[in-house]
Amino acid sequence: MKYKSLKKSDLYYQAWTAYKWKHIINNITFVAVFALCATILSSSIPENYKIFLILFFMLGFLIRTNIVYYWRCPRCGKPFHMKWIVLGSTTECSHCHLKRWAPNDKEAPNQAL
Ligand SMILES: [Zn+2]
Repeated sequence: MKYKSLKKSDLYYQAWTAYKWKHIINNITFVAVFALCATILSSSIPENYKIFLILFFMLGFLIRTNIVYYWRCPRCGKPFHMKWIVLGSTTECSHCHLKRWAPNDKEAPNQAL
């Protein structure tokens, strides 16, 4: 199943759209942090400040990534990718096994509810 196959009338359309945008923003953040760190390392900023700035940006990226990983499943409301503190499957909910991009519950055969 793909995001493009979803219709606006699907039950989980809005939730998956929000999920998609969080992923896009997270990927942009990753590239931006990488570019910023490379720029900082090649700059003439004193070494002590370089380490501080890089740790600051890395921390920001980790927080941003956790927002995606702890995104709530539209069906069960639990973190979609995380079970306890361990990263689970990226293609289905770690709790109720709702497939990623599933339009509704009827087309999600692995229901555990
Ligand atoms: Zn779920």
